[in-house]
Amino acid sequence: MQTYDNWIDGGFAAPAGGRRMTTANPFTGEVWAEVADDPDAVDAAVAAARRAVSDGPWAQMAAAERARLMRRLGEILTRDADELAAIETRDNGKIIRETSAQAKSLQSYYDYFAGLADKTCGEQIPSPTPNFLVYTEKVPVGVVGAIIPWNSPLLLLTWKLAPLLAAGCTAVVKPSELTPVTALLLAERAAEAGFPPGVINVVTGGPSVGAALTAHPGIDKITFTGGGDTARHVARAAAANLVPTVLELGGKSPQIIFDDADPEAATNGLLAGIFAASGQTCIAGSRAYVQRGVADDIVARITARASELVLGDPSDFATEMGPAASDAQRDRILAMIEQARTEGATIAAGGTVDPVLGGRFVRPTVITGATNDTTIVRKEVFGPVLAMMTFDDEDEAVKLANDTDYGLAAGVWTLDVRRALRMSRALHAGTVWVNTYRTASYTAPFGGFKQSGYGKDNGREALDGYLLTKTVWVELTGATRDPFVLG
Ligand code: NAD
Repeated sequence: MQTYDNWIDGGFAAPAGGRRMTTANPFTGEVWAEVADDPDAVDAAVAAARRAVSDGPWAQMAAAERARLMRRLGEILTRDADELAAIETRDNGKIIRETSAQAKSLQSYYDYFAGLADKTCGEQIPSPTPNFLVYTEKVPVGVVGAIIPWNSPLLLLTWKLAPLLAAGCTAVVKPSELTPVTALLLAERAAEAGFPPGVINVVTGGPSVGAALTAHPGIDKITFTGGGDTARHVARAAAANLVPTVLELGGKSPQIIFDDADPEAATNGLLAGIFAASGQTCIAGSRAYVQRGVADDIVARITARASELVLGDPSDFATEMGPAASDAQRDRILAMIEQARTEGATIAAGGTVDPVLGGRFVRPTVITGATNDTTIVRKEVFGPVLAMMTFDDEDEAVKLANDTDYGLAAGVWTLDVRRALRMSRALHAGTVWVNTYRTASYTAPFGGFKQSGYGKDNGREALDGYLLTKTVWVELTGATRDPFVLG
């Protein structure tokens, strides 16, 4: 078993009290690493991040030089992408095809935000009277606490780190207790790239470490990706310190298939939308609404394709679907399927643990006969379960799709361009995909509406979120004014 310490102030630091936890491979069950689980370590990490953002080389560094370090980090991550992807697959059971593609994509995020680092600027503001020069300056928010889930650890960490580094902030990162290792390895590679000590710190551990970080008075902003219940704790802690937050939460995203859609493309989109990453993605398209005339055909296509998906060892490039990330996750998925059955829905495909692979492999599951009142249509499953329902016309499709507490994403399948545009306007979600699903990029803001959270990762908006606006008034003439009157 390998042992990893926290990464604080430019080096590995053992937890003072020796408190540790283990992490296991969800496919083999092997406990392969132990990491720190010490809430007291948060103090040292925040202090290091504070020093780095206030004094020392990072605080004085030209934006172009920060950009150079970010590009170098991107190159190193690409160099080591195979190793990082293998560890990520070992830790969370996600198929190597996807962890590999994600690891190879990280460089593009650091490159994009490096390109923006020296292009942030304030503006000159018109003065009410000619004797003032008024302008705004953009300054880094400061120390950012970044809390990450387990389903795409390095990618989601990069969605936070690339913009905050471009802005000149520093970070204390808390990866998920299920996937703690790759964040430490990224921080080590950032040191190799030349980032000064304290710019990126990583404290591993469970909820008590996350809670210590979000409650810490030395944090200036919290960016969190995870579940809604945890987010409420985070938001409360942030409110107590009056600290701004970004919350990237879950979803119950609809996919709407009209009768003029390309059936093959729509089937592929539905399949990828729900069964990629075993449904353990925030953007899982877990509710499908199919126009009545084509519903039987699309359900038949999906159930056939679902039963053909190749389940197996996630580290095999031929595998299309891996296991659930933990026993608890598998049990929760199976319990929700059972509840759907008792509420009157039909299990058209899957619904059980795979009879051959057993363990944490839940078969790709398709549910019919559910309605918007069925629990599985309202609650996030975070597993490979698609509920398929029907609609008659566009108005009904919009009503059904928007009838949800969430608002992360939505998919529309139609070849009618006017209808596609009307639908994308009517759907209340942070991302709408038309004739595609599950695309994201460093250029495009990503984040939810409603219970799916607030704030954005990616795009210029993410960078703006790590900058404060300072307004400067300069008196140019020595003119006197009444100091007791505002204005
Ligand atoms: P989670 O909420 O259980 O954990 C997320 C992180 O919060 C972990 O690092 C965890 O240790 C930490 N944490 C736990 N308790 C805490 C507390 N009291 N204070 C501070 N931190 C605490 O989520 P998860 O199971 O790791 O991830 C799955 C969830 O994440 C799903 O709901 C999914 O939809 C969501 N998600 C959202 C996005 C997005 O971008 N919108 C992306 C991926 C996953």
